[in-house]
Amino acid sequence: MTQETEFDRLLADKHISQAAFQHKTDWVFDLDNTIYPAASSLFPRVAERMTLFICEELGLNAEDAAALKTRLFRTYGTTMHGLMKEYNMTPDAFLAFVHEIDLSDVSEDAELDRLLGQLGGRKHIYTNGTVRHAERILEAFGIRQHFDHIFDIVASDHIPKPNPAPYDIFLAQTGIQPEQAVMIEDMARNLEPAAKLGMGTIWLVSDHDWAHKGASEDYVHFIAEDVKHCLTALSNAG
Ligand SMILES: [Mg+2]
Repeated sequence: MTQETEFDRLLADKHISQAAFQHKTDWVFDLDNTIYPAASSLFPRVAERMTLFICEELGLNAEDAAALKTRLFRTYGTTMHGLMKEYNMTPDAFLAFVHEIDLSDVSEDAELDRLLGQLGGRKHIYTNGTVRHAERILEAFGIRQHFDHIFDIVASDHIPKPNPAPYDIFLAQTGIQPEQAVMIEDMARNLEPAAKLGMGTIWLVSDHDWAHKGASEDYVHFIAEDVKHCLTALSNAG
């Protein structure tokens, strides 16, 4: 079976259905590669600054720093978590540096603004990044006003998704009832703890990486191509 056929089958099987979302009151969006498509150039800018930070802090050349970044990300879920575990780094300087990306070429997105406005209920951001990063991205796209809580890696005690611990902190801090909430993410495995807590889940393909780990698991309830397709399907469902 070709990748495209497999993707089409997954998308058809888990196409957003009306009934599933009728009584939902809270929409929990991941930020990076979810609010904007993975194919955009934005997240690579963060990754580039991670490499630069590692070069400077550990005195490595760019190639070794990039390899270390990738290994730490794969082992620990985030590069920062790996730097804390293996190099005893404190997270603040890393988080501040890597998220200070150039957004001068990002313009407001009227369609995204309209689609978010059509979706009833409260909207939140749950990110492995920082509040400042989330606010800069949301403001650049002109959609900051749609979101209530922004829950970040600092609020998570620096424990990244998909570790289940910060999901509990998130629900406790926000008072969101999991049965009435839906989580929307580009990393399928980050949806597993949400589904276990009783939340609905939507995985965004966002690029051609259809075989993303966990995408065919039962904890992925629905699939959409990207955030705009998702919001369009949800507003049609309402
Ligand atoms: Mg993401």
